[in-house]
Amino acid sequence: MKKQFGYRCEYCEGTVRARRVEREAFKHKSGFVILEKVTIGVCDQCGNRYYSADVLKRVHAIATGKVKPKRTQRVPVAHAV
Ligand SMILES: [Zn+2]
Repeated sequence: MKKQFGYRCEYCEGTVRARRVEREAFKHKSGFVILEKVTIGVCDQCGNRYYSADVLKRVHAIATGKVKPKRTQRVPVAHAV
């Protein structure tokens, strides 16, 4: 596997480490896309998350309807009180 993490965090002195997560929500201009079992980069100090170009490409493809999602789930939306 190509090493795509391990670089220095943009916000602190930490190092961005690859982490496989069960689900991650990505904000997109048309809403949110959730990817399951995805490898992302997480800073080992501040916890900032980084996404590879491949992952972002996939989010974009799903958000624009080029790739069909496995399922769609409703997300509750409310105003803050
Ligand atoms: Zn950091």
